[in-house]
Amino acid sequence: MPIDMRRKHVSGRTLAVLLAALLLAGCGAPREARAKTVFAMDTVMNLSAYGKSADAALEAAEREIYRLDAMLARGVEGSAVYACNHGAAPEGELAELLALAEEIGAAADGAFDPYLGGVLDLWGFGSGAGEHRVPTETELSEAPRLLDLGGVAKGYAGQRVCDILREGGATGAVVDLGGDVALFGQKPDGSAWRVAVKDPAGGAYLGVLESEGGRYIATSGVYERFFEQNGVRYHHILDPRTGRPAESGLVSATVICESGVWADALATAVCVMGAEQALQMRAALAETTPFDVILVTADGRVLYTCEGFAPDAGNGYACERVF
Ligand code: AMP
Ligand code: MG
Repeated sequence: MPIDMRRKHVSGRTLAVLLAALLLAGCGAPREARAKTVFAMDTVMNLSAYGKSADAALEAAEREIYRLDAMLARGVEGSAVYACNHGAAPEGELAELLALAEEIGAAADGAFDPYLGGVLDLWGFGSGAGEHRVPTETELSEAPRLLDLGGVAKGYAGQRVCDILREGGATGAVVDLGGDVALFGQKPDGSAWRVAVKDPAGGAYLGVLESEGGRYIATSGVYERFFEQNGVRYHHILDPRTGRPAESGLVSATVICESGVWADALATAVCVMGAEQALQMRAALAETTPFDVILVTADGRVLYTCEGFAPDAGNGYACERVF
C-alpha cells in the first residue's frame, strides 16, 4: 500500500482524495477487506472490498476496468473513442455515456464539454498528445471538435466497478480510482465510510468526509497537471468558452454525488465555473441530481455544503459551510 500519496501516480498527478480512505475505513473493522491494485486510465487504482466472494468480485472488477480503459482511451488505435474521432458513429454503451456527458455539459451551462479533444491536444494535455505549449488564438478557434471522455471515464468506471462488485457478492467496498473514490454498500460493523480529503497545496488533510455507501467523491484540481512557460502556469482544466485554462478562483473542487459520471464531470465543471455559479447550479439541480461540494479557493478558503464533512481544525484554511 503506497505511503507517500503525493507520489502515487505514475503520471505524477497529485492526488486530492486519498487512498487513506482505505486505511480510515478498514482499520479496526471486524472482518478484513480484500484488496486489489489496478493500473489503468493513466493512474493507480486501489480497490478494497468486503464479503465472502470479494476476491472473485475484485477480479471481475479489474477486467471491467481494463475493458473500459480500452474503450475510452482516445489516443489508442482501436478504442471506440478513437474510432469516433475517425468517422465512426458512437454506438451502444459509448453512445449512452456520451449522451450523459452532453446532458451534464448542458446542465453546467457549457463548463463541461466532451468535445475538447482538439483543444487539449494543442496544449499537450490530450491523451498521447505532444509537447506542452501555449497555442495561438487562431489555433484554438480552429481546433477540431474531438471526442474526449477523460472527464467522465473514472466516474463511469467507478459506477461499473460498484455494479460488478455488487453482482459478485461483495457487501461493501471502497474503490479509489486515483483520487476519485466510489463507496459501495456497508462496512462489516455498519459504521460510516470515512474518506480523507487531501489539501491541494500538499501537506495534510483538509478534513474527513463521512458518508454512506452509494456515493462517489470526485476531485478536480488545477494543480493536478500543468506546465510553466515564461513564469506562467498553465493547467489542464480548460474553459470551453476560451479554450484556455480556467481562471475561476478555485484551486480544487470535490463533488459528492450518487452518480459517478455526474460527480466526475461536475468536479471539472465546477473548477471552470467557480464557487458562486457552482452553488447556483447545485440549487438548480437539487431535485434531479442532488450533490455536495467541497471547494478550495485560491485565497485560502474551504467552502463546503455537506453535513458529513469535518474540516481539520489545523488545516490552515478559513472553512465555512455554505448552502
Ligand atoms: P479531471 O482530472 O477529472 O478533472 O478531468 C480532467 C480531464 O477532463 C482532462 O484531463 C481533460 O481530458 C478533460 N477536460 C479538461 N477540461 C474539461 C472541460 N472543461 N470539459 C470536459 N473535459 C475536460
Ligand atoms: Mg474528475
